[in-house]
Amino acid sequence: MISVGELRADEPRWVQSDAMDLLEYQGKQFFAQYGIPVSDGEATGDVEEAVAIANRVGYPVVVKAQVHTGGRGKAGGVKLAENEVEAREHAGNILGLDIKGHIVKTIWVEKASDIAEEYYASFTLDRSAKQYLGMLSAEGGVEIETVAEENPDAIAKIHVNPAEGLSEAQCRQWVVAANLNPDATEGAVDILMKLYEAYVQGDADLVEINPLILKPTGEVHALDAKVSLDSNADFRHPDYEQYDATQPRDERETAAHEKGLQYVGLEGTVGVIANGAGLAMSTVDVVNQVGGKPANFLDVGGGANADMFADAMNVINNDPSVKSIFINIFGGITRGEEVANGILEAMERVSIDAPIVIRLDGTNADEGRAILEPRLNDKLMMEPTMLEAARRAVELAE
Ligand code: GDP
Ligand code: MN
Repeated sequence: MISVGELRADEPRWVQSDAMDLLEYQGKQFFAQYGIPVSDGEATGDVEEAVAIANRVGYPVVVKAQVHTGGRGKAGGVKLAENEVEAREHAGNILGLDIKGHIVKTIWVEKASDIAEEYYASFTLDRSAKQYLGMLSAEGGVEIETVAEENPDAIAKIHVNPAEGLSEAQCRQWVVAANLNPDATEGAVDILMKLYEAYVQGDADLVEINPLILKPTGEVHALDAKVSLDSNADFRHPDYEQYDATQPRDERETAAHEKGLQYVGLEGTVGVIANGAGLAMSTVDVVNQVGGKPANFLDVGGGANADMFADAMNVINNDPSVKSIFINIFGGITRGEEVANGILEAMERVSIDAPIVIRLDGTNADEGRAILEPRLNDKLMMEPTMLEAARRAVELAE
């Protein structure tokens, strides 16, 4: 059986993660392709270039940090500039700013808008309803989670059957239900129809406009953009490759994916190596069950040779939060003695800091265990069951 890791090993890295989160300016360019009105602006990583952009679009301008996190306004990452001096000052201050651990390398400078009202609009997938979910609220500009908690009735929801799509009549009813200013109705219907099209045609997992604004002049306009694309649909959108360079990546994940390992970085201290995605998930679960916290999910796939174990151990060993390693292998086609020899050979190649606990079961497990037995010490342990091995690994991590 060929593993997912083997299938994907030589595909470009950008097709491997499932979601691509766009920066605001990329989201706005994406929206613009579907005719959604956004402000004129440009992105840059340079202060003087930012000033030149501001001079071109005309004052006042807004200078906005481009990072993969929300709440930039509160963190000082969104500033209005009335003139060239202020544009230079804000650009200089925002570039290099740390917003929730994200260092600002790019800013977006756009023509400032006058705001009469701030709304919220989004489309996403409601998995339990097996339909798309649109959310619209007259209370925009704040986090939708806060609105959902404090005033859930202020969010008008619409379920859209993907096979039927969204009709303009349904959309209009939805807008009316959201109690926006009546002046905004036509503009909101127009934008929401286009937003729906962007969501479906663009293969997005999420499209969100917060705030969607009503201007004093009556136009409705997208002032922010949060877009997450489903990279499983990349093959339909060759241009999505441009987003690869700006994806936030966990360094551990990058290293693991380069080796063709299926790896997901987590926050805990127990490094996990297992064969098969199902067993790897169960291993993560059982570590949690006995009171530990896994540092990662790692599926080494179907084979069990020394190269693969060495790669897996290297990735885990380079993670400074790992305090113990739990290797959980169920031999199928791969026999126990191959697994045991693979682990021992890998250990000769990689100098591992954290103690290792092995649980080996399945085909020829006895033969494999017999090979490991004489090599056991306080850095290499073996337990007969998954649960006992998990307990031991969690103990060692404490
Ligand atoms: P976020 O804080 O990361 O969600 O960044 P936003 O792009 O949503 O901007 C935060 C807030 O800054 C908005 O809710 C607006 O109140 C304000 N803001 C952003 N752009 C403009 C603008 O062009 N004009 C005015 N007056 N306010 C703006
Ligand atoms: Mn916003």
